[in-house]
Amino acid sequence: MATQEDSKTIDEAGSAGREEGRAATVIGVLGAGTMGNGIAQLAARAGAKTLLYDPFPDALQKGTESARKGLAKEAQKGKLSEQQAQAASERLTPVDDMAALSGCELVIEAAPERLELKHEMYGKLSEIVGEECVLASNTSSLLVTAIATGASHPERVVGMHFFNPAPLMALLEVVAGVRSSSRALALARATGEAMGKTVIVAKDGPGFIVNRCNRPFGLEALRLLQEQVADVQTIDRICRMEGGFRMGPFELMDLVGVDTGFEISQSFYAQSFGEPRWRPSMIAARYVAAGLYGRKSGRGYYDYGAGAHRPEDPGPPRAGAAGPDGAGASGPARPGPRDRAVADRPPGGEGVVVIAGEGVVARQLREAAREAGYEVRAPHEPSGGVLPALFIDCDARPPARERPPGEAPAVDRRGAVAQSHGGARLLLCAYGSLSALDPQGSAVGFHVLAPLERAGLVELTRSETSSPLAAARAERFFAALGKHVAWVGDAPGLVLGRIVCQVINESAFALGEGVGSARDIDLGMVLGLSHPRGPLAWADAIGLQHVLGVLEALCAEYREERYRPAPALRRMVAAGRLGGDSGEGFFAAAD
Ligand code: NAD
Repeated sequence: MATQEDSKTIDEAGSAGREEGRAATVIGVLGAGTMGNGIAQLAARAGAKTLLYDPFPDALQKGTESARKGLAKEAQKGKLSEQQAQAASERLTPVDDMAALSGCELVIEAAPERLELKHEMYGKLSEIVGEECVLASNTSSLLVTAIATGASHPERVVGMHFFNPAPLMALLEVVAGVRSSSRALALARATGEAMGKTVIVAKDGPGFIVNRCNRPFGLEALRLLQEQVADVQTIDRICRMEGGFRMGPFELMDLVGVDTGFEISQSFYAQSFGEPRWRPSMIAARYVAAGLYGRKSGRGYYDYGAGAHRPEDPGPPRAGAAGPDGAGASGPARPGPRDRAVADRPPGGEGVVVIAGEGVVARQLREAAREAGYEVRAPHEPSGGVLPALFIDCDARPPARERPPGEAPAVDRRGAVAQSHGGARLLLCAYGSLSALDPQGSAVGFHVLAPLERAGLVELTRSETSSPLAAARAERFFAALGKHVAWVGDAPGLVLGRIVCQVINESAFALGEGVGSARDIDLGMVLGLSHPRGPLAWADAIGLQHVLGVLEALCAEYREERYRPAPALRRMVAAGRLGGDSGEGFFAAAD
């Protein structure tokens, strides 16, 4: 029978996942496939007596060999001594009868992702193992709570979500089902730590922490493609070169399998009863219908038929001499998804730029422009008769809506400042798209996510009415700062801003819903998916007003619930916890 301690509520169970536990010393692994054999390798290496079961003899043999080869490889690489690898290999026993798992303290199930099959297995297992034995599923898309109903005591069932390849990936997500006991969670956590993993604890739900928070990385990229803001290659290049991601979203979707990704999207949408943020993409549906599954079928968003699927990304633009401002710069690139690797930098000291705005981007741009030799002025500083080459407004807002008759015109501080300078204007597209910030105007839009020093590329956008001079000067200015530029279509946040702000928004929803702590969300995205930084720490670096600004602009311009900002994010901004320079955001400055 379940003890009283075993029937704690989910919230208690979640915190109990952090309680001290004891690692299991006898571990069964169910299923010897891709994940199962890697988990068996980990269990044996951690010192546990490990029993690997698979009903298919071939699969069992292959899985056992693979785990042992893995141990031998670790010895070759010097991660284990020969003796340690040998001893671990001897601790691993293949078994062809599930009854052999009777003495296990923990059974980790890595069988095919079918709920009926898992139910049947948990029913059988419940009759074989002792009452204290914890049953852990490696499921990545089913609810642990639903799997648990197949077991005699659902309290003993938890999720242990390993990442592929299990022996190499540093992260383990321990998942608390609605009825998971604190004891079961603590044992799973301690066992994961004994395997050398960084353990995060997630509440059960679609995608747990990691796969849920990363949903917008692919889905928002697909929306940008659908709206023709940029093409596949450009979106991926922007994510790599501006954002520091190892792989762009389309490369990742091709790697996972476009069909697998589409199935996961459908499952998220169904499990959430139609959450608009998780609506599957029509483009992905068409690719699946066409059999373009990605790497495994030879073609997906990229063609893997011959040679590399994409060119290497260029290094930073070469520093070098160029003519004075405007002179010698090539004409502006046409709007569209073409990249310009601008190679020339001005010799420095010749240009005067005005940079307006209080946010992180404005501050970092001012520093970078000064370093590149520009004279940087504040909007109201006397010009000394020299017209600035560029007026850069990092705080541009859409003009107030039409006034009712008779009402005095509102004073738009920034607009007035911008207009008074005339000339070439460059607006940060955070609080609106270029068309919303400067309807019918001559300005050019740009966007870049802090930290600026890490961004190798800045996005530019322009409209039919944008000034060619402003476009040329914008290219030249960013080249002088050592940045490539990519011309993209118009949208709040342009490409990377929109993708990353939606990833942050999803993470803030997950945080607000108690799916995981801020620490665990960030660790999960960095260690599980190799994101360049945790989304919540990144939000702090960008400044939460900037993030909220992009989301509110998307919400206003698209009128879609998909972009509604997470309450947790709104509340932080309302409370003055703004990240950026304010010291406190999702994390305290000292964290
Ligand atoms: P797989 O197909 O490589 O391996 C499944 C194994 O289970 C096979 O060896 C099969 O013979 C065996 N099996 C079939 N019926 C069984 C039964 N009744 N009892 C025990 N074993 C049985 O699959 P996989 O990729 O290792 O996935 C296993 C689980 O891990 C799934 O729940 C999946 O969602 C999850 N997962 C997979 C990945 C991944 O990248 N592959 C990552 C995280 C989680």
